[in-house]
Amino acid sequence: MATKKRASKGYRADRLKTAETKRVTEAPHTSCSPNDLRALAEAVVAKRRRDLAPMPEPDAQKLVHQLQVHQVELEMQNEELHRTQSALEEARDRYVDLYDFAPLALVTLSPAGEVLEANLAAASLLGLDRKALIHPKLTRFIPVESQDAFHLYCHQVLHSEVRQTGELTLKNATGGSLTVRLEGIAADDPNTRERHCRLSLTNITEHKETERRRDLTSALAALFAHKNSASEYLQAVVELIRQWSGSEALGIRLVNDAQEIPYESWAGFEPGFIDLESRLSLQRDACCCIRAITQAVESPDRTLLTPGGSYRCDNLHAFTEQITPQERARYRGNCVKFGFASVAVVPIHCREGILGAIHLADRRIGQFPPPVIEFVESLTPLIGEAIRRFQAEAELAKHRDHLEELVAQRTRELDAANEQLRTEVASREIAEEALLHAAEALKRSNLDLEQFGYVASHDLQEPLRAVAGFVRLLEHRFPEKLDAKMREYIAGAAEGATRMERLITDLLTFSRLSTEGSAFTPANLAAPLNVALRNLQFSILSANATVTIDPLPTASVDESQMVQLFQNLIANALKFRSEHAPQIHIGARSEEGRWVLWVRDNGIGIEPQYFERIFQVFQRLHTRNKYPGTGIGLAICKKIVERHGGQIWVESQPGLGSTFYFSLPGAPR
Ligand code: ADP
Repeated sequence: MATKKRASKGYRADRLKTAETKRVTEAPHTSCSPNDLRALAEAVVAKRRRDLAPMPEPDAQKLVHQLQVHQVELEMQNEELHRTQSALEEARDRYVDLYDFAPLALVTLSPAGEVLEANLAAASLLGLDRKALIHPKLTRFIPVESQDAFHLYCHQVLHSEVRQTGELTLKNATGGSLTVRLEGIAADDPNTRERHCRLSLTNITEHKETERRRDLTSALAALFAHKNSASEYLQAVVELIRQWSGSEALGIRLVNDAQEIPYESWAGFEPGFIDLESRLSLQRDACCCIRAITQAVESPDRTLLTPGGSYRCDNLHAFTEQITPQERARYRGNCVKFGFASVAVVPIHCREGILGAIHLADRRIGQFPPPVIEFVESLTPLIGEAIRRFQAEAELAKHRDHLEELVAQRTRELDAANEQLRTEVASREIAEEALLHAAEALKRSNLDLEQFGYVASHDLQEPLRAVAGFVRLLEHRFPEKLDAKMREYIAGAAEGATRMERLITDLLTFSRLSTEGSAFTPANLAAPLNVALRNLQFSILSANATVTIDPLPTASVDESQMVQLFQNLIANALKFRSEHAPQIHIGARSEEGRWVLWVRDNGIGIEPQYFERIFQVFQRLHTRNKYPGTGIGLAICKKIVERHGGQIWVESQPGLGSTFYFSLPGAPR
């Protein structure tokens, strides 16, 4: 400001002197005060009066007039000059104010880098009083490693006619680190003709920090897609956060199944430190790392705790000094032992809780200010989620391996079972083939047997008839020559022949069943039953038997064989009667798609152990004397029923009677 006032006065004196010298060339040409100027003017006038020759009155009057006009003119010029000077001073004041109070930091540097001018914003940015800024070099705020770049930049500004931009890291007087954007232009000093470097400095520290944080966040997010395992991922996370925070050492500890919190990944810690810390247990030990994970905060911890639940200490030595020895026992003290001053432990949050912690440590004091830790806290859900996913993937891979092993084992078992099955099928095929051959052989042999039975029975009948005829002839031709004994023998021979004939007839019937059967036709079973009853009419009457019949169904049958079937069963019911008059009932029912018919009597009954045997040929339970018969009747019944696709069986209680059942296919379901 003082310079400004001086300059404005100087300017006014120069202008006055110029006006005066137009007329008073002899006046001294130094800058004067108003009083000096007045004295000077008086002297000039007095000298002129002395120099002036006496002049006539009119000339004198004319001169006086001219002088008066000139004086007025001068007064008017003077006024104009005053106004211009005030406007100039006002403009200059405005410029100075604008310069001083501009929000942008402005500095002017000499070619040697000395600060010639600086505004208030520059002073506040660099953390010094404005006076203290002037004269020393600006490089005192620039870290050594950036000074070369700054000199180059200034050189470019001084040798260019256009504006130059650049970026610079500064350490201001309060120790704060700043990033500034530089805009510089060269300007010539009007007095000294020296080239100056005018710089504007914009503080872009926050902007830079936001950019760095954004870069870190996106780098962390991208990591998940690029890394194959949790360990690879965690190592990359350690490197990224360490680089971002400038932390000397950084590690990630995770809680394992044994509730220990080993370092999964780390950088910058000495191996001895990791050895000491790796077996730390959540249950057995006590320290910040543990309490950051369990969140079981203790009272001396409170000063260290951040609102986000992390532990943060700027100076561990000072902290341990200030707490009591008892309280000190709650800290393992390894960080202090290894010389770390700044320490932070940030819990890694995941949806379901805390998975572990990020441990930052540095030997310098105050390395982790709250904003740094707050930002690391904001990253932990992302890291936690990635860890969870890697763990889940590992678990899945384990299960997949196990599953694959199971599948392989099951495949091996199946292959073995298949092989065994193939062997079995092969041997079964061989057995079936053999069975088929055997069945065919049996069929052939059965046919042969039936043929033989038929031929034999047929051919036996003839000689039998001859024997019976000759015996009868003997009896009729020579009645007088036969004594009682002879007659008895002849009767025995005749009876044997008759029995033999019955046997042969039954065998013949039996063997004809399959060879000479008729085709099946639908018939109501009451018809063959009635024929059978008619055939047995005499026996029924003589046995005084009662026969009752339910309605019978219609089935597809060989009707004459059905007559035979009913006849054999009813004849047996009559033959094997008890002391009571026989009561015979014939009934039928539909059961699971087949007809079941039965012939029930109240005869002597059958012991259960004979239920199967009685259906075989020649199987009889009584002597011929007691109940006559050949033992073929039920075998014939069985063959007839089976030829019709049915079954035959008996239910009986000795002394209470028997029921013979047989089934025929074709009943509605
Ligand atoms: P047979 O009547 O000629 O002896 P079957 O083959 O008809 O031959 O019968 C075989 C045996 O079954 C008979 O000897 C008899 O012991 C027994 N049996 C058959 N039907 C009955 C019945 N209704 N009651 C008791 N026993 C019977």
